[in-house]
Amino acid sequence: MAPVHDSYDVVIVGGAIYGSSVAWWLTQMAGFTGRILVVERDPSYERAGTSLTNSCIRQQFSNKANISVSQFGAEFIRNFRDFMGGDPEVPALTLQSYGYLYLADTPEFAQDLKDSQKVQASLGAGTRYMTAAEIAADYPFYQLDDILGANHNLVNEGYFDGGTMFDWFKRMARKNGVEYLTDEVVAMTCTRTRVERVMLKSGAEVACDVVVNASGTRGALTARMANLDIPIEPRRRYTYIFDAAHPLDRDLPLTIDPSGVHMRTDGRYYLAGGPPDEDPAVDFDDFDADHSLWEAKFWPIIANRIPQFEEIKLINMWVGHYDYNTLDQNAIVGPHPEMSNFMFVNGFSGHGLQQSPALGRGLAERIAYGEYRSLDLTPFAVDRVLSGEKFLEKAVI
Ligand SMILES: Cc1cc2nc3c(=O)[nH]c(=O)nc-3n(C[C@H](O)[C@H](O)[C@H](O)COP(=O)(O)OP(=O)(O)OC[C@H]3O[C@@H](n4cnc5c(N)ncnc54)[C@H](O)[C@@H]3O)c2cc1C
Repeated sequence: MAPVHDSYDVVIVGGAIYGSSVAWWLTQMAGFTGRILVVERDPSYERAGTSLTNSCIRQQFSNKANISVSQFGAEFIRNFRDFMGGDPEVPALTLQSYGYLYLADTPEFAQDLKDSQKVQASLGAGTRYMTAAEIAADYPFYQLDDILGANHNLVNEGYFDGGTMFDWFKRMARKNGVEYLTDEVVAMTCTRTRVERVMLKSGAEVACDVVVNASGTRGALTARMANLDIPIEPRRRYTYIFDAAHPLDRDLPLTIDPSGVHMRTDGRYYLAGGPPDEDPAVDFDDFDADHSLWEAKFWPIIANRIPQFEEIKLINMWVGHYDYNTLDQNAIVGPHPEMSNFMFVNGFSGHGLQQSPALGRGLAERIAYGEYRSLDLTPFAVDRVLSGEKFLEKAVI
């Protein structure tokens, strides 16, 4: 299939949750009537971060911008059908609020949690700091010998169905006139300040007013096509689903062990995940798994923290890639200061799914009106990458 038109107001590179969120939000911007093309190289989305995600949302960040972005994420999930125009065909999304439990094993880490709790509470989040005794009273199954305390929040924090959200962003974008094309963006022609044309693997090419880089782990490759650099690389993350011979008598919050391994309730099973011990950049298409890691690393950590999980059976596992921002593990959003019609929405490093409603809306506002109207997203601007100044966020999982 070829593009229907020779030129588009907005060409979006990548059609997963970000490409589709930005596309759908653009169709919601009053007065914006631009023509939108989404180019996606793999419409199965088999290896997209969007498909291999753990699909959780939290208020527990240390940076106000990230907290506000996730708060809108929760509002969007809770009012999904209304946001989608009230169509009775749109399903209601649930948010299973079993919370995150961020465990601290050093006084410094405990102090960080207390500081973050204050920031979160100042924005209305329900986070509370718990002592080890309080954790033991609410969740008697943890081994807490090395734990000083934790932050926990049972409001708007837990699992949501990101797959359904993605599906409806895409469906409604299409319904509202967005064109989806199966092809790959391979090059761009640019002046010193603008991208003028986008070239596709099929040989087709289109003119564009704005280009959106929604290419996930390939974000740096897409930026290079416009002679720009961003510090994004694919990093392997393991996910395991397991069954327990002796299930817990209550939901397991998404528990972040000080080792970096996390685990949570997953329906009648449990989910655990984390990085390998060595965490280099990997090839975009390398999804090979080191199968020894389950017994060598993950299971011992899980069973140490929850002795009831001594007897567990692995049901499933997969490797996904984080779109890892090596500068500061946070999103890069908005235009490049010199290549002003090249828009980034990249580098989410493990918390991108929950941010897709707010960052998609913000970028659509920036494109349609030249400014952020709902939430100020300037803290995510690429300018910080150019100056080397990090976006400070302590809670990266
Ligand atoms: C294991 C794992 C667990 C996670 N857990 C969570 C979580 O609990 N909560 C949370 O909020 N986030 C989580 N995330 C992060 C979140 O899933 C991602 O940040 C988000 O899905 C990224 O979406 P995206 O649209 O930017 O990229 P992707 O989903 O990776 O999609 C990018 C798309 O661009 C396409 N593309 C790339 N280059 C081109 C090109 N040149 N031409 C055409 N198409 C192109 C690709 O084919 C792909 O479909 C997790 C991620 C992983 C891997």
